[in-house]
Amino acid sequence: MTRSPVSVDIPSLLHLAETARGAGGYERGARLAQQAADMAVRQGNKRLQARALRLLANQLIKLGEYERAARSADLAISLLETLGDEAGICETRTFQAQAYSALGLQEEALTALGGGLELAQRLGDNLLLFWTLNRIGTSHCDMADWAQAEPFLRHAHELATGEDLGDEATFCILNNLASHAQGYVKALRALDDFPRAEAELRSGLIYARQAVDAARAVAHPFRKAISLGNLGMLLGLAGDFDAAAAQMDRALELSATHGYRPLELDALNDTGELFLLRGDLPAAVARFAEVLQRASQANEPYVILLAHQQLSAAHERIGDYQSALRHYRDYHRIERLMHSEVANHRAKLLTHRFELHNAQLAADKARLEARLAMLRSHELEAEKQALQMRATELGRDANTDPLTGLWNRRHMDEQFPGLFRHAQETGRPLCVAIGDLDRFKNVNDRFGHAAGDQVLRQLAAILRGGCRPGDMVARMGGEEFFLALIDTEFPAARATCERLRRAVEHYPWHDISPGLAVTISFGVGEATDVGDHHQLLARADGSMYAAKRAGRNRVEPVAGQLARAEVKLRDPVLGSPAG
Ligand code: GH3
Ligand code: MG
Ligand code: MG
Repeated sequence: MTRSPVSVDIPSLLHLAETARGAGGYERGARLAQQAADMAVRQGNKRLQARALRLLANQLIKLGEYERAARSADLAISLLETLGDEAGICETRTFQAQAYSALGLQEEALTALGGGLELAQRLGDNLLLFWTLNRIGTSHCDMADWAQAEPFLRHAHELATGEDLGDEATFCILNNLASHAQGYVKALRALDDFPRAEAELRSGLIYARQAVDAARAVAHPFRKAISLGNLGMLLGLAGDFDAAAAQMDRALELSATHGYRPLELDALNDTGELFLLRGDLPAAVARFAEVLQRASQANEPYVILLAHQQLSAAHERIGDYQSALRHYRDYHRIERLMHSEVANHRAKLLTHRFELHNAQLAADKARLEARLAMLRSHELEAEKQALQMRATELGRDANTDPLTGLWNRRHMDEQFPGLFRHAQETGRPLCVAIGDLDRFKNVNDRFGHAAGDQVLRQLAAILRGGCRPGDMVARMGGEEFFLALIDTEFPAARATCERLRRAVEHYPWHDISPGLAVTISFGVGEATDVGDHHQLLARADGSMYAAKRAGRNRVEPVAGQLARAEVKLRDPVLGSPAG
């Protein structure tokens, strides 16, 4: 018999993860936190799951895994909400906001922090208030809004010095003030406001030195690396290039050794800027080219963008206008791409939030069922019934899309193969359709996400109302919907889709928002001549895309099926008797 490894409990794992985090070992800390979260899911301990997820989000940010960080924070907050843990929510908001900011979702970040600030004030908790103010300040820094950032950072600094909030808080605010000074000095110099730039530079250097001292006092490699980088850049801005390079090299080395990827890229870019300040243009170009290459490998769009911008400016100063123009063009091309990337992140985060929520419900259900199995051997009828009811309820929730109330992708994946098999075995007709809203991104962009959500809900009502009770109507994801039309021949299915298409086109969408109009494209196919249900779905999907290509707001039949259906109608001998 194999022995299972030494069993660890969740609190010990969390303790280890916290210890790793405290020492800047974020890779290990994130692994341990993930393990703790998984274990908490299995044991159904939401409180510990939320703690583990928060710890995970915090460290993933340091490793540059922003999307995973955002998802962990989202899930932690939804758990904390069910637990009514307001302090936990408030703390987690700061990590959520940091991940959102890094993904370009500045609005979402500030919204999360607005909620956090209200909570912190209501709870009267100075440490929470500190972290929230600190994060609001740095979010403004992320938007290069230096003047807006300043009061928040200063307020946080006052709290940290007045209240003894611990070494992490003290270090962070000093370091963030140094980093803010750096950005502000560059911006002020670009505006030719030299006296204010000098004043900022002087106070920035003081903060940076204090931050470096604070980092040394606790021997923390991340804090050391980030504060040395800030000090190096400020020294460079003050013209002390040799001292600057020495600090920067140390920052680079520490980040590389410990896997702090975002920090390493930052420091690399900063060394390029130091070369620029020194007037060593070829060295600067070489350094920015290295940043570009590394950022492309790591798929860090913001750093790629920055590198193109730096390269364009440096080439221009050298007089190599052709290269400057090339990087300028790349910069704008990528900037355009990033706009859609940001919208993508937004949609993905939403979908993930739903999926995670559903997975949570499914896990709860599984656990209840396990308990139920145990109770069956006893005769606890009453408890058994209550549990059964709750399990059914959770099962329903886990299979429903919370926004529209339609079946979700999980339910569709579970049920549709059975429907397909049944149709094949009994010879009853079955059709499927896939509908996708047309240019829905524009709806969100022009009318806002809330209006977009309302459209999705109303659309669901139209689809549900336009099908028979036995049909399956599901939201496959985003703005894509699935219909399984039971006992329906192809011509009738096509007519149903056509009716739905018209109903969508003529619905008074302007009641939701003036000027709003919505259309949908369908692909529709029948379960004949297809090997399996995957193939049927793929064909309907292909037809939906054909409808898009043909101009949208159309119903497109699966190629070949239309012709056959017409033959059937003309020549009843070929078809099955109408039912
Ligand atoms: P096309 O006609 O080619 O289908 O264009 P499209 O803009 O509809 O297609 P695309 O797939 O590029 O964009 C889908 C958009 O749907 C992206 C996202 O903003 C939006 N979306 C997805 N899920 C939701 C949601 O739950 N709520 C809202 N408001 N929007 C969503
Ligand atoms: Mg669409
Ligand atoms: Mg789509």
